[in-house]
Amino acid sequence: MARATPIAVRLKLPDNILEIDWSDGVASRYAGAYLRFVCPCAGCRGHGPGQVPEPTWEQVKDVRMLGAEAVGGYAIRLKLSDCHESGIYSWDFLRDNDPEPRAKAETESTG
Ligand SMILES: [Zn+2]
Repeated sequence: MARATPIAVRLKLPDNILEIDWSDGVASRYAGAYLRFVCPCAGCRGHGPGQVPEPTWEQVKDVRMLGAEAVGGYAIRLKLSDCHESGIYSWDFLRDNDPEPRAKAETESTG
C-alpha cells in the first residue's frame, strides 16, 4: 500500500508550527522544538543506533524554525534557530513521527 503523501505544507513561522495535510485526509502539526528533538541527521543520530546521545528536551525547547526548502520532492529541509540546517525530514519520517495525528474527515462527517 502506498504511503500517504502531503497535499499541502504550511510553515507558520510566527507560531513555530509546521502543518501538513496528507493525501489520506489526516492533518499533522509539528512544533519547531519537537522537530529539532527528533532531527534525523547524522550529527544528531550518528550512523547507527546509540552512537550519539539524544538531545534533552531542555536543550531544544527554545528552538524555532527559520525557514524550509523542499528536497527532491520526497522531503523537507528545515533551517532551525540553533544554527542547525542539515536535518532532512522525509515525508515518511514526518508521518511516522506525527505526535498527534488527527483525521480531518472525522470532524467533517458528523452532523
Ligand atoms: Zn540534526
